[in-house]
Amino acid sequence: MPQVQPKVRLIQYTPAPEELVALAAKLCYSASDLDDLGEGVAKKDQSKFIARLMDMGHLSPIEHASFTFGIEGVSRSFLAQITRHRIASFSVQSQRYVALGDDGNGFDYIVPPAIEALGEEDAAEFRRQMAEMDAWYQAWRKKLGSGEKSNEDARFVLPNAAATRMLVTMNARELTHFLSLRCCSRAQWEIRAVAWQMLELAYRAAPALFEDAGPGCLRGPCPEGGKSCGKAAEVRERARALKRQTD
Ligand SMILES: Cc1cc2nc3c(=O)[nH]c(=O)nc-3n(C[C@H](O)[C@H](O)[C@H](O)COP(=O)(O)OP(=O)(O)OC[C@H]3O[C@@H](n4cnc5c(N)ncnc54)[C@H](O)[C@@H]3O)c2cc1C
Repeated sequence: MPQVQPKVRLIQYTPAPEELVALAAKLCYSASDLDDLGEGVAKKDQSKFIARLMDMGHLSPIEHASFTFGIEGVSRSFLAQITRHRIASFSVQSQRYVALGDDGNGFDYIVPPAIEALGEEDAAEFRRQMAEMDAWYQAWRKKLGSGEKSNEDARFVLPNAAATRMLVTMNARELTHFLSLRCCSRAQWEIRAVAWQMLELAYRAAPALFEDAGPGCLRGPCPEGGKSCGKAAEVRERARALKRQTD
């Protein structure tokens, strides 16, 4: 019964995303025709164009750049949250076509850090519960016959802790919005941990596009009002450190 950790990869993204966004800005704000645009935008001007768009809140040009992440070792609870982001595109491992724990080791699952922090006895109890649920799941699969028809019903006894994997594609505007909500300390720990990894990967790929990306408190006072974590200074330092180490 393998306990798993989240893994996040930036699988692919629009080639030269910053140049593409700068080209879109150039088209909007100059008399350039397509031939002029074909000459591109000098590297040094790209950041200026992008900063101006961000300042003005003219965000549709950044929708031209897309980023595809592979995410695994996350729970079905994570899945329920990330798929609320409607502008993103998803491909998720099927629980109908793929039988979990078919190797005899049981399904993969995530143990919440707060449960691990209770100590080994409690963590072992959690793992025992996972093993018990796996036994229920395998028993129902056997009783219902093999294949997708049995998987689709047997999975009803699986917990939110069961691991899943997915590809997620977001354009830079949606990704920025997602990072703003999910890097915030108010977001649940699992999606927050993944969001910070996505921020790091996106920043490494396109630093000018994601210069200010992250929770709202990076761009001004904390927007969470009475629900603020009160740790804006720490959060800002975390983002600065991430960007320093990536530069
Ligand atoms: C801390 C936290 C707690 C949460 N708690 C709960 C909870 O208790 N219960 C719950 O159900 N959800 C909860 N959510 C999920 C939340 O309500 C949103 O569904 C989720 O964050 C997706 O946000 P979004 O709609 O802005 O993003 P996206 O779906 O990615 O949309 C991006 C933006 O596009 C625009 N947009 C997209 N679709 C429409 C539309 N149909 N009409 C108009 N504009 C649209 C909006 O401007 C939107 O902000 C929580 C989220 C967070 C971060």
